[in-house]
Amino acid sequence: MTDLHDKSLTELAAGLEKGDFSSVELTQGLLNRIAAHDETLNALVTITSDEALVAAAQADAARASGDAGVLNGLPIIHKDIFCTRGIKTTCGSKMLDNFISPYDATLVERLGAAGAVVLGKANMDEFAMGSSNETSYFGPVRNPWDLERSPGGSSGGSAAAVAARLAPAATATDTGGSIRQPAALTNTVGIKPTYGRVSRYGMIAFASSLDQAGVITRTAEDAARLLGVMAGFDERDSTCLDEPVPDYVAELGHSIKGLKIGVVRQHFDEGLDADCSVKVKDAIAALESLGATAVEVDMPNIDLSLPTYYVVAPAECSSNLSRFDGVRFGHRAENPEDLHDLYCRSRGEGFGDEVKRRIMTGTYVLSAGYYDAYYLKAQQVRHLIADDFKRAFADVDVIAGPTTPTPAFKLGAKTDDPITMYLNDIYTIGANLGGFPALSVPCGFVNDLPIGLHLVGHHFDESALLRCAHAYQQETDWHTACPEAFK
Ligand code: GLN
Repeated sequence: MTDLHDKSLTELAAGLEKGDFSSVELTQGLLNRIAAHDETLNALVTITSDEALVAAAQADAARASGDAGVLNGLPIIHKDIFCTRGIKTTCGSKMLDNFISPYDATLVERLGAAGAVVLGKANMDEFAMGSSNETSYFGPVRNPWDLERSPGGSSGGSAAAVAARLAPAATATDTGGSIRQPAALTNTVGIKPTYGRVSRYGMIAFASSLDQAGVITRTAEDAARLLGVMAGFDERDSTCLDEPVPDYVAELGHSIKGLKIGVVRQHFDEGLDADCSVKVKDAIAALESLGATAVEVDMPNIDLSLPTYYVVAPAECSSNLSRFDGVRFGHRAENPEDLHDLYCRSRGEGFGDEVKRRIMTGTYVLSAGYYDAYYLKAQQVRHLIADDFKRAFADVDVIAGPTTPTPAFKLGAKTDDPITMYLNDIYTIGANLGGFPALSVPCGFVNDLPIGLHLVGHHFDESALLRCAHAYQQETDWHTACPEAFK
Protein backbone atom coordinates (compact mmCIF):
# COMPACT_ATOMS: atom_id res chain seq x y z
CA MET A 1 0.00 0.00 0.00
CA THR A 2 3.08 2.20 -0.17
CA ASP A 3 2.25 3.71 -3.53
CA LEU A 4 -1.27 4.97 -2.83
CA HIS A 5 -0.01 8.55 -2.68
CA ASP A 6 0.97 8.35 -6.34
CA LYS A 7 -2.51 7.40 -7.50
CA SER A 8 -4.98 9.84 -8.96
CA LEU A 9 -8.24 10.66 -7.23
CA THR A 10 -10.05 8.59 -9.86
CA GLU A 11 -7.82 5.56 -9.21
CA LEU A 12 -8.24 5.99 -5.47
CA ALA A 13 -12.03 6.15 -5.86
CA ALA A 14 -11.92 2.83 -7.73
CA GLY A 15 -9.66 1.26 -5.08
CA LEU A 16 -11.96 2.34 -2.26
CA GLU A 17 -14.97 1.04 -4.16
CA LYS A 18 -13.34 -2.35 -4.69
CA GLY A 19 -12.30 -2.51 -1.05
CA ASP A 20 -8.56 -2.70 -1.85
CA PHE A 21 -7.97 -0.32 1.07
CA SER A 22 -10.06 1.78 3.42
CA SER A 23 -10.33 5.55 3.65
CA VAL A 24 -8.76 5.36 7.11
CA GLU A 25 -5.71 3.57 5.67
CA LEU A 26 -5.46 6.02 2.78
CA THR A 27 -5.92 9.05 5.03
CA GLN A 28 -3.40 7.83 7.57
CA GLY A 29 -0.87 7.18 4.79
CA LEU A 30 -1.18 10.73 3.48
CA LEU A 31 -1.08 12.22 6.98
CA ASN A 32 2.20 10.34 7.47
CA ARG A 33 3.56 11.88 4.29
CA ILE A 34 2.46 15.32 5.43
CA ALA A 35 4.23 14.75 8.75
CA ALA A 36 7.38 13.67 6.90
CA HIS A 37 7.48 16.39 4.24
CA ASP A 38 5.57 19.46 5.25
CA GLU A 39 8.27 20.91 7.42
CA THR A 40 10.35 21.14 4.25
CA LEU A 41 7.60 22.38 1.95
CA ASN A 42 5.53 24.58 4.28
CA ALA A 43 2.52 23.82 2.08
CA LEU A 44 0.04 23.63 4.95
CA VAL A 45 -0.95 26.21 7.54
CA THR A 46 -3.15 23.80 9.48
CA ILE A 47 -3.11 20.00 9.52
CA THR A 48 -6.43 18.49 10.60
CA SER A 49 -5.29 14.94 11.44
CA ASP A 50 -7.92 14.15 14.07
CA GLU A 51 -10.84 15.51 12.09
CA ALA A 52 -9.58 13.75 8.95
CA LEU A 53 -9.39 10.36 10.64
CA VAL A 54 -12.89 10.75 12.08
CA ALA A 55 -14.23 11.76 8.65
CA ALA A 56 -12.42 8.82 7.02
CA ALA A 57 -13.92 6.37 9.50
CA GLN A 58 -17.36 7.84 8.82
CA ALA A 59 -16.76 7.47 5.09
CA ASP A 60 -15.80 3.82 5.53
CA ALA A 61 -18.93 3.23 7.59
CA ALA A 62 -21.08 5.01 4.99
CA ARG A 63 -19.63 2.80 2.26
CA ALA A 64 -20.25 -0.32 4.30
CA SER A 65 -23.90 0.65 4.66
CA GLY A 66 -24.24 1.36 0.94
CA ASP A 67 -24.43 5.11 1.43
CA ALA A 68 -21.27 6.39 -0.28
CA GLY A 69 -21.20 9.84 -1.91
CA VAL A 70 -19.31 10.36 -5.18
CA LEU A 71 -16.15 11.46 -3.35
CA ASN A 72 -16.59 9.10 -0.43
CA GLY A 73 -13.39 8.76 1.61
CA LEU A 74 -11.18 10.70 -0.81
CA PRO A 75 -8.65 13.01 0.88
CA ILE A 76 -8.30 16.62 -0.24
CA ILE A 77 -6.77 19.88 1.04
CA HIS A 78 -8.53 23.26 1.12
CA LYS A 79 -6.79 26.53 0.34
CA ASP A 80 -6.86 28.56 3.55
CA ILE A 81 -9.07 31.17 1.88
CA PHE A 82 -12.18 28.97 2.29
CA CYS A 83 -14.03 29.21 5.57
CA THR A 84 -14.13 25.95 7.50
CA ARG A 85 -16.38 25.68 10.52
CA GLY A 86 -14.43 25.24 13.73
CA ILE A 87 -11.05 25.18 11.94
CA LYS A 88 -8.83 28.26 11.61
CA THR A 89 -9.08 30.17 8.31
CA THR A 90 -6.14 32.58 8.00
CA CYS A 91 -6.07 33.63 4.33
CA GLY A 92 -2.29 33.67 4.77
CA SER A 93 -2.51 36.76 6.97
CA LYS A 94 -1.64 37.81 10.48
CA MET A 95 -4.93 39.69 10.31
CA LEU A 96 -6.85 36.38 10.44
CA ASP A 97 -4.33 34.32 12.37
CA ASN A 98 -6.94 33.82 15.09
CA PHE A 99 -10.07 33.60 12.93
CA ILE A 100 -12.32 30.58 13.35
CA SER A 101 -15.28 30.68 11.03
CA PRO A 102 -18.70 29.76 12.40
CA TYR A 103 -19.71 28.26 9.03
CA ASP A 104 -18.39 26.32 6.04
CA ALA A 105 -17.94 27.85 2.58
CA THR A 106 -20.45 26.37 0.11
CA LEU A 107 -17.61 24.64 -1.72
CA VAL A 108 -16.36 23.08 1.52
CA GLU A 109 -19.89 22.00 2.36
CA ARG A 110 -20.50 20.43 -1.07
CA LEU A 111 -17.23 18.51 -1.20
CA GLY A 112 -17.79 17.36 2.39
CA ALA A 113 -21.35 16.25 1.64
CA ALA A 114 -19.98 14.16 -1.27
CA GLY A 115 -17.72 12.40 1.23
CA ALA A 116 -14.34 14.12 0.78
CA VAL A 117 -11.97 13.99 3.76
CA VAL A 118 -10.08 17.22 4.57
CA LEU A 119 -6.41 16.74 5.50
CA GLY A 120 -5.68 20.40 6.18
CA LYS A 121 -5.59 23.99 4.98
CA ALA A 122 -3.07 25.13 2.39
CA ASN A 123 -0.63 28.00 2.70
CA MET A 124 -1.14 30.89 0.27
CA ASP A 125 -0.05 34.44 -0.48
CA GLU A 126 -1.62 36.88 1.96
CA PHE A 127 -5.24 37.48 0.90
CA ALA A 128 -4.29 35.74 -2.39
CA MET A 129 -2.13 38.70 -3.45
CA GLY A 130 1.06 37.39 -4.96
CA SER A 131 2.59 35.04 -7.50
CA SER A 132 5.18 33.26 -5.38
CA ASN A 133 3.67 32.50 -1.98
CA GLU A 134 6.27 34.77 -0.45
CA THR A 135 3.70 37.26 0.85
CA SER A 136 2.25 34.67 3.25
CA TYR A 137 2.46 35.58 6.94
CA PHE A 138 3.34 31.90 7.47
CA GLY A 139 6.40 32.01 5.24
CA PRO A 140 6.98 30.91 1.66
CA VAL A 141 6.03 27.51 0.26
CA ARG A 142 8.84 25.59 -1.45
CA ASN A 143 8.53 24.04 -4.89
CA PRO A 144 8.88 20.22 -4.66
CA TRP A 145 10.78 20.27 -7.98
CA ASP A 146 13.52 22.48 -6.52
CA LEU A 147 13.31 23.56 -2.91
CA GLU A 148 15.18 26.79 -3.68
CA ARG A 149 12.38 27.84 -6.00
CA SER A 150 8.86 29.18 -5.59
CA PRO A 151 5.86 26.98 -6.46
CA GLY A 152 4.09 30.13 -7.69
CA GLY A 153 1.10 31.71 -6.03
CA SER A 154 -1.19 32.56 -4.64
CA SER A 155 -2.35 28.92 -4.46
CA GLY A 156 1.24 27.72 -3.98
CA GLY A 157 0.44 25.56 -0.96
CA SER A 158 -2.34 23.76 -2.84
CA ALA A 159 -0.10 23.18 -5.87
CA ALA A 160 2.98 22.09 -3.91
CA ALA A 161 0.93 19.65 -1.81
CA VAL A 162 -0.58 18.00 -4.89
CA ALA A 163 2.75 17.91 -6.75
CA ALA A 164 4.50 16.33 -3.74
CA ARG A 165 1.76 13.69 -3.43
CA LEU A 166 0.57 14.89 -0.03
CA ALA A 167 -2.96 14.80 -1.46
CA PRO A 168 -4.45 13.94 -4.85
CA ALA A 169 -6.29 17.26 -5.03
CA ALA A 170 -6.58 20.68 -3.43
CA THR A 171 -9.04 23.51 -3.81
CA ALA A 172 -7.70 26.87 -4.96
CA THR A 173 -8.76 30.32 -6.13
CA ASP A 174 -7.81 32.48 -9.08
CA THR A 175 -8.16 36.25 -9.45
CA GLY A 176 -5.44 36.79 -12.05
CA GLY A 177 -3.73 33.42 -12.38
CA SER A 178 -3.43 31.98 -8.88
CA ILE A 179 -4.66 28.51 -9.82
CA ARG A 180 -3.03 28.18 -13.24
CA GLN A 181 0.40 29.74 -12.61
CA PRO A 182 1.24 27.53 -9.58
CA ALA A 183 -0.18 24.52 -11.43
CA ALA A 184 2.18 25.21 -14.35
CA LEU A 185 5.19 25.66 -12.06
CA THR A 186 4.57 22.40 -10.17
CA ASN A 187 3.50 19.99 -12.94
CA THR A 188 -0.15 19.88 -11.90
CA VAL A 189 -3.49 20.59 -13.58
CA GLY A 190 -5.29 23.74 -12.45
CA ILE A 191 -8.72 24.89 -13.58
CA LYS A 192 -10.32 28.27 -13.05
CA PRO A 193 -13.96 27.85 -14.02
CA THR A 194 -16.13 30.53 -15.63
CA TYR A 195 -16.83 33.53 -13.40
CA GLY A 196 -20.02 32.63 -11.53
CA ARG A 197 -19.73 28.87 -12.10
CA VAL A 198 -18.67 27.95 -8.54
CA SER A 199 -20.13 29.57 -5.43
CA ARG A 200 -17.88 32.00 -3.57
CA TYR A 201 -19.95 31.98 -0.42
CA GLY A 202 -17.45 31.60 2.41
CA MET A 203 -14.45 32.33 0.16
CA ILE A 204 -12.62 35.39 1.46
CA ALA A 205 -12.90 38.14 -1.16
CA PHE A 206 -9.94 39.74 -2.91
CA ALA A 207 -11.28 41.34 -6.13
CA SER A 208 -14.94 40.45 -6.47
CA SER A 209 -15.35 40.95 -10.22
CA LEU A 210 -12.41 38.59 -10.90
CA ASP A 211 -12.25 35.97 -8.11
CA GLN A 212 -13.26 32.41 -8.87
CA ALA A 213 -12.81 29.10 -7.05
CA GLY A 214 -11.37 26.03 -8.70
CA VAL A 215 -9.17 23.05 -8.12
CA ILE A 216 -5.63 21.69 -8.56
CA THR A 217 -5.11 17.99 -9.35
CA ARG A 218 -2.65 15.88 -11.31
CA THR A 219 -5.12 14.84 -14.02
CA ALA A 220 -7.87 16.58 -15.95
CA GLU A 221 -10.12 13.63 -15.16
CA ASP A 222 -9.76 14.32 -11.42
CA ALA A 223 -10.46 18.01 -11.99
CA ALA A 224 -13.63 17.04 -13.91
CA ARG A 225 -14.75 14.81 -11.05
CA LEU A 226 -14.33 17.55 -8.44
CA LEU A 227 -15.71 20.37 -10.55
CA GLY A 228 -18.91 18.42 -11.04
CA VAL A 229 -19.46 18.51 -7.28
CA MET A 230 -18.30 22.11 -6.73
CA ALA A 231 -20.12 23.81 -9.60
CA GLY A 232 -23.70 24.99 -9.69
CA PHE A 233 -26.07 27.62 -8.41
CA ASP A 234 -25.97 28.76 -4.81
CA GLU A 235 -28.57 31.21 -3.59
CA ARG A 236 -26.11 32.45 -0.94
CA ASP A 237 -23.82 33.92 -3.64
CA SER A 238 -25.55 36.55 -5.77
CA THR A 239 -22.83 36.32 -8.45
CA CYS A 240 -23.26 32.55 -8.85
CA LEU A 241 -25.09 31.77 -12.07
CA ASP A 242 -27.94 29.33 -12.51
CA GLU A 243 -26.53 27.41 -15.47
CA PRO A 244 -26.90 23.64 -15.88
CA VAL A 245 -23.77 21.72 -14.83
CA PRO A 246 -22.82 19.05 -17.36
CA ASP A 247 -21.46 15.65 -16.40
CA TYR A 248 -17.84 16.71 -16.89
CA VAL A 249 -16.48 13.17 -16.48
CA ALA A 250 -18.86 11.70 -19.08
CA GLU A 251 -17.95 14.49 -21.51
CA LEU A 252 -14.26 13.56 -21.33
CA GLY A 253 -15.18 10.63 -23.53
CA HIS A 254 -15.97 12.90 -26.50
CA SER A 255 -13.10 13.15 -28.95
CA ILE A 256 -11.45 16.47 -29.74
CA LYS A 257 -11.62 15.76 -33.48
CA GLY A 258 -12.63 18.92 -35.28
CA LEU A 259 -12.04 21.15 -32.26
CA LYS A 260 -10.66 24.53 -33.34
CA ILE A 261 -7.80 25.97 -31.33
CA GLY A 262 -6.79 29.62 -31.54
CA VAL A 263 -3.14 30.38 -30.87
CA VAL A 264 -2.64 33.95 -29.69
CA ARG A 265 0.04 35.61 -31.79
CA GLN A 266 0.89 38.13 -29.04
CA HIS A 267 1.70 35.36 -26.54
CA PHE A 268 4.74 34.14 -28.42
CA ASP A 269 6.71 37.39 -28.50
CA GLU A 270 10.01 38.20 -26.79
CA GLY A 271 8.51 38.00 -23.27
CA LEU A 272 8.30 34.21 -23.51
CA ASP A 273 11.32 32.03 -22.71
CA ALA A 274 12.49 30.40 -25.96
CA ASP A 275 12.51 26.84 -24.59
CA CYS A 276 9.04 27.28 -23.10
CA SER A 277 7.82 28.51 -26.47
CA VAL A 278 9.06 25.33 -28.18
CA LYS A 279 7.37 23.07 -25.60
CA VAL A 280 4.07 24.90 -25.78
CA LYS A 281 4.09 24.75 -29.58
CA ASP A 282 4.84 21.02 -29.37
CA ALA A 283 1.82 20.59 -27.09
CA ILE A 284 -0.44 22.41 -29.54
CA ALA A 285 0.93 20.21 -32.34
CA ALA A 286 0.10 17.16 -30.21
CA LEU A 287 -3.50 18.37 -29.93
CA GLU A 288 -3.56 18.75 -33.73
CA SER A 289 -2.37 15.18 -34.13
CA LEU A 290 -5.38 14.18 -32.01
CA GLY A 291 -7.69 15.77 -34.56
CA ALA A 292 -7.90 19.42 -33.51
CA THR A 293 -6.98 22.22 -35.88
CA ALA A 294 -4.94 25.23 -34.83
CA VAL A 295 -5.22 28.71 -36.30
CA GLU A 296 -3.48 31.92 -35.29
CA VAL A 297 -5.65 34.52 -33.59
CA ASP A 298 -4.88 38.17 -33.07
CA MET A 299 -5.67 39.86 -29.77
CA PRO A 300 -4.53 43.45 -30.23
CA ASN A 301 -5.51 44.61 -26.73
CA ILE A 302 -4.20 41.64 -24.76
CA ASP A 303 -1.00 43.46 -23.78
CA LEU A 304 -3.13 45.87 -21.78
CA SER A 305 -4.29 43.06 -19.46
CA LEU A 306 -1.63 43.56 -16.82
CA PRO A 307 -2.01 47.33 -16.32
CA THR A 308 -5.79 46.97 -16.41
CA TYR A 309 -5.73 44.24 -13.78
CA TYR A 310 -3.43 46.23 -11.52
CA VAL A 311 -5.99 49.04 -11.40
CA VAL A 312 -9.18 46.94 -11.10
CA ALA A 313 -7.89 44.32 -8.61
CA PRO A 314 -6.35 46.79 -6.11
CA ALA A 315 -9.45 49.01 -6.33
CA GLU A 316 -11.73 46.12 -5.43
CA CYS A 317 -9.38 44.78 -2.78
CA SER A 318 -9.15 48.17 -1.05
CA SER A 319 -12.91 48.07 -0.72
CA ASN A 320 -13.16 44.38 0.28
CA LEU A 321 -10.41 44.61 2.88
CA SER A 322 -11.94 47.63 4.59
CA ARG A 323 -13.93 45.18 6.72
CA PHE A 324 -10.77 44.17 8.57
CA ASP A 325 -10.82 47.00 11.05
CA GLY A 326 -9.90 45.32 14.32
CA VAL A 327 -13.51 45.50 15.47
CA ARG A 328 -15.35 42.63 13.81
CA PHE A 329 -12.73 40.19 12.54
CA GLY A 330 -9.25 39.10 13.33
CA HIS A 331 -6.30 41.01 14.68
CA ARG A 332 -6.94 43.85 17.12
CA ALA A 333 -4.19 46.23 18.34
CA GLU A 334 -3.57 46.30 22.09
CA ASN A 335 -4.69 49.27 24.22
CA PRO A 336 -5.95 51.63 21.52
CA GLU A 337 -6.15 55.29 22.48
CA ASP A 338 -9.31 55.88 20.46
CA LEU A 339 -11.22 54.43 17.51
CA HIS A 340 -8.91 55.93 14.92
CA ASP A 341 -5.87 54.51 16.68
CA LEU A 342 -7.61 51.11 16.84
CA TYR A 343 -8.23 51.09 13.06
CA CYS A 344 -4.78 52.34 12.13
CA ARG A 345 -2.75 50.09 14.34
CA SER A 346 -4.89 46.97 13.83
CA ARG A 347 -4.56 47.33 10.06
CA GLY A 348 -0.94 48.46 10.23
CA GLU A 349 0.02 45.44 12.33
CA GLY A 350 -2.30 42.92 10.68
CA PHE A 351 -1.51 43.43 6.98
CA GLY A 352 1.78 42.68 5.25
CA ASP A 353 3.60 44.92 2.75
CA GLU A 354 2.05 43.61 -0.48
CA VAL A 355 -1.48 43.91 0.87
CA LYS A 356 -0.74 47.47 2.01
CA ARG A 357 0.69 48.29 -1.43
CA ARG A 358 -2.54 47.04 -3.07
CA ILE A 359 -4.81 48.90 -0.64
CA MET A 360 -2.89 52.14 -1.23
CA THR A 361 -2.98 51.73 -5.02
CA GLY A 362 -6.66 50.84 -4.87
CA THR A 363 -7.61 53.77 -2.69
CA TYR A 364 -5.68 56.10 -4.97
CA VAL A 365 -7.34 54.93 -8.21
CA LEU A 366 -10.77 55.20 -6.61
CA SER A 367 -10.28 58.64 -5.12
CA ALA A 368 -12.10 61.73 -6.40
CA GLY A 369 -10.21 63.26 -9.29
CA TYR A 370 -8.46 60.00 -10.23
CA TYR A 371 -11.46 57.70 -10.52
CA ASP A 372 -12.20 58.64 -14.15
CA ALA A 373 -8.57 58.63 -15.21
CA TYR A 374 -7.74 55.24 -13.70
CA TYR A 375 -10.61 53.08 -12.52
CA LEU A 376 -13.17 54.05 -15.17
CA LYS A 377 -10.54 53.88 -17.91
CA ALA A 378 -9.43 50.44 -16.73
CA GLN A 379 -13.02 49.20 -16.84
CA GLN A 380 -13.30 50.47 -20.43
CA VAL A 381 -10.07 48.76 -21.45
CA ARG A 382 -11.30 45.61 -19.74
CA HIS A 383 -14.18 45.53 -22.22
CA LEU A 384 -11.78 45.89 -25.16
CA ILE A 385 -9.83 42.88 -23.87
CA ALA A 386 -12.99 40.82 -23.39
CA ASP A 387 -14.01 41.79 -26.93
CA ASP A 388 -10.68 40.46 -28.25
CA PHE A 389 -11.59 37.10 -26.72
CA LYS A 390 -15.15 37.21 -28.06
CA ARG A 391 -13.91 37.99 -31.57
CA ALA A 392 -11.49 35.07 -31.38
CA PHE A 393 -14.18 32.78 -30.00
CA ALA A 394 -16.38 33.49 -33.04
CA ASP A 395 -14.00 31.19 -34.93
CA VAL A 396 -12.43 28.90 -32.36
CA ASP A 397 -13.50 26.65 -29.48
CA VAL A 398 -10.44 27.05 -27.30
CA ILE A 399 -7.56 29.52 -27.10
CA ALA A 400 -4.13 28.04 -26.35
CA GLY A 401 -0.76 29.42 -25.27
CA PRO A 402 1.82 29.31 -22.49
CA THR A 403 0.64 29.57 -18.87
CA THR A 404 3.75 31.41 -17.68
CA PRO A 405 6.67 33.19 -19.39
CA THR A 406 9.29 31.04 -17.60
CA PRO A 407 9.53 27.97 -15.36
CA ALA A 408 9.68 28.39 -11.56
CA PHE A 409 12.00 31.16 -10.33
CA LYS A 410 14.21 31.24 -7.23
CA LEU A 411 12.67 32.32 -3.94
CA GLY A 412 13.65 35.91 -3.30
CA ALA A 413 14.46 36.58 -6.98
CA LYS A 414 11.53 38.94 -7.55
CA THR A 415 10.49 40.10 -4.11
CA ASP A 416 12.14 43.51 -4.46
CA ASP A 417 10.57 44.23 -7.82
CA PRO A 418 6.77 44.07 -7.83
CA ILE A 419 6.47 44.74 -11.57
CA THR A 420 8.64 41.73 -12.49
CA MET A 421 6.60 39.68 -10.06
CA TYR A 422 3.35 40.90 -11.63
CA LEU A 423 4.58 39.83 -15.09
CA ASN A 424 4.13 36.20 -14.06
CA ASP A 425 0.44 36.46 -14.81
CA ILE A 426 0.78 38.15 -18.16
CA TYR A 427 -0.90 35.24 -20.02
CA THR A 428 -3.49 34.30 -17.42
CA ILE A 429 -5.09 37.61 -16.42
CA GLY A 430 -7.10 38.08 -19.64
CA ALA A 431 -9.35 35.12 -18.77
CA ASN A 432 -10.21 36.73 -15.42
CA LEU A 433 -10.90 40.12 -16.96
CA GLY A 434 -13.36 38.49 -19.38
CA GLY A 435 -14.72 35.89 -16.94
CA PHE A 436 -13.71 32.99 -19.20
CA PRO A 437 -12.87 29.49 -17.92
CA ALA A 438 -9.19 28.55 -18.21
CA LEU A 439 -6.93 25.65 -17.39
CA SER A 440 -3.23 24.79 -17.21
CA VAL A 441 -2.01 21.27 -18.02
CA PRO A 442 1.60 20.01 -17.67
CA CYS A 443 3.33 20.10 -21.08
CA GLY A 444 6.98 19.34 -20.44
CA PHE A 445 10.13 20.40 -18.65
CA VAL A 446 12.62 23.20 -19.24
CA ASN A 447 15.89 22.84 -17.30
CA ASP A 448 14.24 20.03 -15.31
CA LEU A 449 11.43 22.35 -14.22
CA PRO A 450 7.81 21.81 -15.28
CA ILE A 451 5.79 24.23 -17.43
CA GLY A 452 2.15 24.35 -18.52
CA LEU A 453 -0.05 24.71 -21.58
CA HIS A 454 -2.78 27.30 -21.01
CA LEU A 455 -6.25 26.81 -22.47
CA VAL A 456 -9.12 29.34 -22.35
CA GLY A 457 -12.70 28.45 -23.29
CA HIS A 458 -16.08 29.98 -24.09
CA HIS A 459 -18.14 31.01 -21.07
CA PHE A 460 -19.42 27.90 -19.28
CA ASP A 461 -17.53 25.55 -21.60
CA GLU A 462 -15.16 24.08 -19.02
CA SER A 463 -15.85 20.77 -20.78
CA ALA A 464 -13.87 21.74 -23.87
CA LEU A 465 -10.83 22.56 -21.72
CA LEU A 466 -11.09 19.38 -19.69
CA ARG A 467 -11.56 17.28 -22.83
CA CYS A 468 -8.49 18.82 -24.48
CA ALA A 469 -6.35 18.37 -21.38
CA HIS A 470 -7.60 14.82 -20.85
CA ALA A 471 -6.94 13.84 -24.47
CA TYR A 472 -3.46 15.35 -24.17
CA GLN A 473 -2.77 13.47 -20.92
CA GLN A 474 -3.81 10.20 -22.57
CA GLU A 475 -1.01 10.74 -25.09
CA THR A 476 1.68 12.20 -22.83
CA ASP A 477 3.12 11.28 -19.47
CA TRP A 478 4.52 14.61 -18.19
CA HIS A 479 1.95 14.65 -15.42
CA THR A 480 3.05 11.27 -14.06
CA ALA A 481 6.54 12.57 -13.30
CA CYS A 482 7.07 12.94 -9.56
CA PRO A 483 9.74 15.13 -7.96
CA GLU A 484 12.62 12.87 -6.84
CA ALA A 485 12.49 13.63 -3.12
CA PHE A 486 8.75 12.93 -2.94
CA LYS A 487 8.50 9.56 -4.67
N1 GLN B 1 -0.64 37.13 -8.92
C1 GLN B 1 -1.80 37.94 -9.06
C2 GLN B 1 -1.87 38.97 -7.96
O1 GLN B 1 -0.95 39.06 -7.25
C3 GLN B 1 -3.03 37.09 -9.07
C4 GLN B 1 -3.40 36.59 -7.72
C5 GLN B 1 -4.60 35.71 -7.75
O2 GLN B 1 -5.01 35.20 -8.79
N2 GLN B 1 -5.21 35.56 -6.59
O3 GLN B 1 -2.79 39.68 -7.81
